[in-house]
Amino acid sequence: MTIQEQYEQLEATIRAYNPGADFEQIRAAFTFAEQHHRGQTRKSGEPYIIHPLAVAQIVAVELKLDSESIEAALLHDCIEDTNATHDQISKLFSPTVASLVEGVSKLTRIQYATKEDEQMENLRKMLIAMSKDIRVILIKIADRLHNMRTMEYQTPEKQKQKSLETMEIYAPIAHRLGMQRIKWELEDLSLKYLDPIGYQEIVSQLDGKKQEYDAFMAKTRQQIDQRLGELSIEHEVYGRMKHPYSIYRKMFNQNKQLDEIFDLFAFRVVVGTVSDCYNVLGVIHDLYKPILGRFKDYIGTPKPNGYQSLHTTVLGTDGIPFEVQIRTREMHEVAEYGVAAHWKYKQGGIGGGTEGRYEWVRRLLENQEGADAEEYIHSLKIDMFSDEVFVFTPNGDVQNLPAGATPIDFAYAIHSAVGNHMVGAKVNGRIVTLDSVLKNGDIVEIITSKAAKGPSRDWMKIAKSSEARSKIRQWFKKEKKEENIATGRASFEAELKHCGIPMKDVLDSENLPGLLKRVSYSTLDDLYAAIGYGGFTAQKAVNRMQGELGRIARQHQADKAAVVPIDGQSDEVRPAVPKTTKSERGIIVEGLNNCLVKFSKCCTPVPGDEIVGFITRGYGVSVHRADCPNASPERRAGPGQEGRWIRVSWGTDTDESYHTSLEVVCKDRNNLVLDISAVLSSTNTRVSALNLRTSEDQFAILHLEIDVRDSRQLQDVMKKIMQISGVLKVTRPAG
Ligand code: MN
Repeated sequence: MTIQEQYEQLEATIRAYNPGADFEQIRAAFTFAEQHHRGQTRKSGEPYIIHPLAVAQIVAVELKLDSESIEAALLHDCIEDTNATHDQISKLFSPTVASLVEGVSKLTRIQYATKEDEQMENLRKMLIAMSKDIRVILIKIADRLHNMRTMEYQTPEKQKQKSLETMEIYAPIAHRLGMQRIKWELEDLSLKYLDPIGYQEIVSQLDGKKQEYDAFMAKTRQQIDQRLGELSIEHEVYGRMKHPYSIYRKMFNQNKQLDEIFDLFAFRVVVGTVSDCYNVLGVIHDLYKPILGRFKDYIGTPKPNGYQSLHTTVLGTDGIPFEVQIRTREMHEVAEYGVAAHWKYKQGGIGGGTEGRYEWVRRLLENQEGADAEEYIHSLKIDMFSDEVFVFTPNGDVQNLPAGATPIDFAYAIHSAVGNHMVGAKVNGRIVTLDSVLKNGDIVEIITSKAAKGPSRDWMKIAKSSEARSKIRQWFKKEKKEENIATGRASFEAELKHCGIPMKDVLDSENLPGLLKRVSYSTLDDLYAAIGYGGFTAQKAVNRMQGELGRIARQHQADKAAVVPIDGQSDEVRPAVPKTTKSERGIIVEGLNNCLVKFSKCCTPVPGDEIVGFITRGYGVSVHRADCPNASPERRAGPGQEGRWIRVSWGTDTDESYHTSLEVVCKDRNNLVLDISAVLSSTNTRVSALNLRTSEDQFAILHLEIDVRDSRQLQDVMKKIMQISGVLKVTRPAG
């Protein structure tokens, strides 16, 4: 076929699905590309224009995209490989076409080395994030598909490298975008170069049985077709075999033979209406013996991603099992073409206007075929892209930072030593200020010096990530220890004085170890340093020590009472039987023994929380969290409050469990409650109430009543809930 004929074929393809396409501009794009690539050849020796033409053909055949996408596909290598410029394309075609071409070029420039899984996931996310317009990634995938189809002309080294990249980056993206057919082809082509022997083995086995298989497929299809025809159900039947890579995975991972693979064959019946789907199911089960437990009704209960179909596995007449999927035309379109199907109906909609920037992510997730729930949740995370930015180290590693991150965040993400010795930064080779905001795809280099004086306090305000901030704080903590100890000591002593505790009581060699244990520091200097840099407060330290000193004092009294002369004559003192202070529900109320204790309903404290007590009229002591608004200093100073607030602390004999509550704010989605219950059961947390409220803007507020042992367990539960996809905030209600 001549180049001209290939172009005519492209026009014909487009005309078939989009007769109103802008053929004048498309032809102009072809002519422009042809002229600019003139003289360039592909590795095969063919003129270069063959490649953009073929990419445009894929964009038309497989994705059925709009005119601007076809133009961009034809021009996609012009900025990168010819002297054409963004401005030129923008003027001659449109700013959109130019930005699509620019976007594809940007993705082309990224170099991927083989990396561990996490890096791969970051790369995939970055690629999608960089393609602000979904069409960029669609054209890029078409580009990669054509390059893979013509990979035979490349060196073996390049073949392996590109195939690996395709397998790890592009096939998963195609899958995520719901484009199953392209995904399969990319996987098969990659496998061919990554494991030529394994691939060949499968292909030749399939070839060897081709006649047998073809006959089976034709016969089965004909049986279904005929029966449905007799019943005048309007339908189409397709048959397909599992593709080589998918067979490869089953054979090699599960160590199976070709005939042991259950779903080697699949048939798809597409009908007009939902009721016909169920009619067809009846017919299939009548024709063939259904295999128990393999029927799935994704029409009545769609998959979390919205995929709909009836699936059943049956035994064919020759004892060969196969799967049948039954769906309506509409369900079929969405399952088959994924995001592209939506694109077709939404020309010009994405990338601006009412449709949000990440709207397409939601759409594509609705259309994923065969993705299970876990995978769905996983892919949902790309929806969170608005708060992430992906940048490169000079070595090509991807760093994932919060949106708005600066070189300071980057430096500390690499290593605290890098941050602490930073004197400057370069982005894409140019020196920038440390507060510059990083963009997706930036290459960031940190300039360090041994003579660096260390971070400045201002960095703490500039840094976006908590990681950077805490590392900077760490530095101040370490480097300024002397200073911190001095300021910490001063505020500690002031607080002691304020509470009327003599310093000598604290320094008493008998008391000190117990006191330090209460505040979890091994020396007084450590405690001072912590107070000095702000990691702990003098108030908290004194509060805890006061409880301990009270306990020691009571112990002494008890000891004294236990001193009795042995046999009434010896002066020897019998060691006291240690008598633990009895506490009510694990609470020690200073100066009061065994008084009635109840936990306030407003803030439901658990062991480990800072607490205060309020003497109620007639109901004993009510215990609040120190940070409860109902126990705020303002409240405590209010009228009628004087003398009623007392110090309370947790004893060692706390109860098995304490009742408390949590509030979870999240984006509403399927299976949310399921995921949260999974966390609760994995942490052995008993739930007594769970109440979900959804708001109109798709947020959900979940109120949980749970029983926990102490604040450690509670923190653990909160941390795990926070890690669930879609969860925005976990708080303990108070007040
Ligand atoms: Mn290309």
